[in-house]
Amino acid sequence: MLLGLSGTAVLAGPPDVLGVRAGRQIEDVTRFVLDISHKVDYRIFTLPDPYRVVIDFPDMDWKIHKDALDRLVRDNPTIKGFRFGQFGQAGGRIVMEVAEPVSVKNSFMLNPVGPHPYRFVLDLAKTDHASFLRESEASKQVAAKPDPVIAKVPPPPTTVPQARKDTRKIIVIDPGHGGVDPGAISLNGYHEKNLTLAMSQELARQLNATGRYKAVLTRNEDDFMALRERVTFARAAGADLFISIHADSHGEGETRGASVYTLSTDASDKEAAALATKENKADVIAGLDLSRQDRDVASILIDLAQRETMNRSKIYAGTLVDELERANVALLAHRPHRSAGFAVLTAPDVPAVLLEVGYLSNKTDERNLMQQAHRQKLARAIIKAADSFFAQPRPVVARVPGGASN
Ligand SMILES: [Zn+2]
Repeated sequence: MLLGLSGTAVLAGPPDVLGVRAGRQIEDVTRFVLDISHKVDYRIFTLPDPYRVVIDFPDMDWKIHKDALDRLVRDNPTIKGFRFGQFGQAGGRIVMEVAEPVSVKNSFMLNPVGPHPYRFVLDLAKTDHASFLRESEASKQVAAKPDPVIAKVPPPPTTVPQARKDTRKIIVIDPGHGGVDPGAISLNGYHEKNLTLAMSQELARQLNATGRYKAVLTRNEDDFMALRERVTFARAAGADLFISIHADSHGEGETRGASVYTLSTDASDKEAAALATKENKADVIAGLDLSRQDRDVASILIDLAQRETMNRSKIYAGTLVDELERANVALLAHRPHRSAGFAVLTAPDVPAVLLEVGYLSNKTDERNLMQQAHRQKLARAIIKAADSFFAQPRPVVARVPGGASN
């Protein structure tokens, strides 16, 4: 019942999503409907903590006005959040966060009738927590197939790190968020995931142009990538430095400026702790089923080698803050270098920082970040910081064997 299979359809391009709506069907049943130009295959499963309904589709073109999506969440007490986007290699995903435990009562495709195109229909009935957990387990069994994200193997490094002749330092740049996870949304509706990609591509261009660095991006498209995969990717690429690019948002629009974060078990302050919690939710937002360990980054075991790496990360972060200041980039007030338990910074042998280039919730920051000239300026400061970082004598620390991130 949870796996829908249509006949093979020959498509001239991805199907279009033409409409989306939801409403109370009968008491305690919410009907969710997508208007789609073609018949599509889908699979549905549910996840707890928070309650989520995840629907995997082929890639589709969402021709829906933002207002329709805002209405969907605003007018339906059951639907608390709605996200969609690329997930894995060839598919799209919808993640619906629901306010209460629900049970998938029905799901089917309707054929076109009159003015109506194909419709995907999903009925969600209210249930209790215990039933939700039971059905969630069962739905995962039925929907089980290799997870496209987990199965994604990072491309092998072009050279073996230990034996490489190439003396360029490898900097892995990580554009935050992507695909089904948009990240923060700016005042004018611009998605953090697109900004981080534009920023990262500019940085990669400038890094490669120096001839001293080889830049490698964790993602070069609007694609979802799990946090753990980004860590694994950086290690497999033999990174000498890992920079994760983000742009935060804050409730009140006053907060602005760039800030740099490094890994620590005890957060430097409560704002940094809250930010780490928010950034670590990327996988939850994308509908990944996370282990206890993935949810609780604070519990990571930090060994001696990692401590050395964490010190190196702090040195780069300090230099980066100095260079940003020298370039007249506005910095977050009080303390522009902070630390907390960021999942994406947990590679034990790669110095890693998370750079929030500014606040998308602040008018001035948003306007600046939209400008290429501003992103070029940021990139120059990041590179200057890398130059002085790599110029410093480096303690000899053996790489931690094994490919696992923790
Ligand atoms: Zn972010």
